[in-house]
Amino acid sequence: MARTLPDILRCDWPVEETTPPPATAQALERAAAILRHGGLVAIPTETVYGLAADALDAEAVAGIFRAKGRPASNPLIVHVSDAAMARSLAASWPAAAAAIAARFWPGPVTVVVPRGPRIPDIVTAGGPTVALRCPDHRLARRLIETAGTPLAAPSANRSEAVSPTTAHHVLAGLGDRVALILDGGPCGQGIESTVVDCTTVPPRILRPGPLSRAAIEAVVGGSVEWLAAADSGTDHAVRSPGQQPRHYAPRTPLELSAEAARRGAELLDSGSRVGLVTTAVDDPATRALASRRELVVVPMPNDPAAYARLLYATLHALDQRALDRIVVATPPDTEAWQAVRDRLVRAATPPL
Ligand code: AMP
Ligand code: MG
Repeated sequence: MARTLPDILRCDWPVEETTPPPATAQALERAAAILRHGGLVAIPTETVYGLAADALDAEAVAGIFRAKGRPASNPLIVHVSDAAMARSLAASWPAAAAAIAARFWPGPVTVVVPRGPRIPDIVTAGGPTVALRCPDHRLARRLIETAGTPLAAPSANRSEAVSPTTAHHVLAGLGDRVALILDGGPCGQGIESTVVDCTTVPPRILRPGPLSRAAIEAVVGGSVEWLAAADSGTDHAVRSPGQQPRHYAPRTPLELSAEAARRGAELLDSGSRVGLVTTAVDDPATRALASRRELVVVPMPNDPAAYARLLYATLHALDQRALDRIVVATPPDTEAWQAVRDRLVRAATPPL
């Protein structure tokens, strides 16, 4: 495990160029060499930054669990450069997985399929299925091709903490535990992929994400269910391991409030320093707080995708402010906000 600060290599790649500029190609070669030797590299994807290792090397993957402090019961998503590589890692390729991959890859959706024999136990937490995704980020795909192997890559943060959406978030959270960070700029989506279990008919959504249920239903040609935590007791734990109640949490205690401005005022009155995260900056109740010195107001966009893109960066930034509390205005209880709500509810769950 690295104990000095990592190198951060900026990887520019102008959209109009089909091959990366020489400096980026060199960075990719260096990252690929580390991966081939069983090391860890932090990489950009369109969802969040990932902490990558060779998915076919059990020792290398063990390094991910150590660096993150991740429980061995929480399986990893394997990243591939295309659908053909995904199929080579699956024991079978269900129709729903084929349809989702054909329509949405590269993209922010992960399919869970029967696991093929090349996948080590540690990747799937011993289970019979494997989660696969082709990221919509040219650097990530080119790195997979250059290394010549699929990459297991959970988010590049300590377990339970806020996921990184910039290279500097990775440095702040895992700086002494990773040797190299590829900087591909801020993540375009900003939250983790939608996870769809394709081993059941109909398929089930295990984790909400950037890709909506309606979009998935349109390609699988039928209804797709949510696997809600309340639904199914132990079945939920078996089907969706690693979806622990507390996750994505800043160090500063965070709470959700349907009356965030009122709650903020109450906390300020009791002497707390407060961060208020809200889409309702123009509401009279929020404006009335504007002059309070112990308050930081973060205005958020009123669109779920735009909100998601800023969410983790906002939490990282507020964590730097020595606040006593972060109060987040509860987003609407609609399907469009489901992924953001899921992250916020977990972020608000207190430690055990
Ligand atoms: P992340 O922590 O963002 O890397 O996402 C990994 C998550 O994907 C895990 O916490 C699980 O919820 C889900 N996942 C990964 N592999 C599987 C699998 N084989 N079966 C079901 N869910 C999985
Ligand atoms: Mg994570």
